[in-house]
Amino acid sequence: MISETVMDAATITSWMREIDAVMRVERDHLVQLDAAIGDGDHGINMVRGFEAVVQAIDADSTVPPGKLLILSGRTLVSTVGGASGPLWGSALRSGGRVLGDQASFAGPQLVEVLAAALASVKDLGTASVGDKTMVDALEPAVDTLRERLESGESLDDALDAAAGAAEDGMRSTIPLQARKGRASYLGERSVGHQDPGATSTALIIRALQKAVIAEA
Ligand code: ADP
Ligand code: MG
Repeated sequence: MISETVMDAATITSWMREIDAVMRVERDHLVQLDAAIGDGDHGINMVRGFEAVVQAIDADSTVPPGKLLILSGRTLVSTVGGASGPLWGSALRSGGRVLGDQASFAGPQLVEVLAAALASVKDLGTASVGDKTMVDALEPAVDTLRERLESGESLDDALDAAAGAAEDGMRSTIPLQARKGRASYLGERSVGHQDPGATSTALIIRALQKAVIAEA
């Protein structure tokens, strides 16, 4: 029998802690990327937001995973001033709503959570792949996770591939001209720089893989 990896509130808590840890490490890099084509606050925004998320989650450890995601999203919206706050905030809230009050979930539902998160980013920000935004990392990650799970791969392997796809998407933003967000004001001068939001998104998907392995 194939054993299926089951995720729960501990997985979400671990995911948010992994994000908080990696954003602290990558803060200056994200600031540098945003200084080149934005206003230089992306690393600060992500650290402030996920630090607050971890605090909010630690305050209540009995909440089901969907509610933890909604709480995390709400916390990002209320603590992050930049575009990334409302975008990731609505992404996590939409993802959380997919899970309702369930105590646990498996791979196919994780795909639905991430697909709802992506849909909400695209709704709110009206960006598509190729516009040089976080969508360039998030969409290939969701597509890859779905395809790999449907072809029978383990959740760990599928998440590894999804994180790799997000990293490829992140690098694919370098030659692009930004069509959304602050970087779009630069026009052609945005070409040749990696998008900060696509970069933090790749870190967020890699953090998910680590959290799932850690809690399995
Ligand atoms: P701000 O641009 O308000 O300073 P941040 O620096 O925190 O906010 O985040 C910038 C990142 O947000 C960009 O690198 C890009 O990936 C993402 N972003 C900006 N606008 C959009 C949008 N309309 N849709 C999707 N992502 C966006
Ligand atoms: Mg910025």
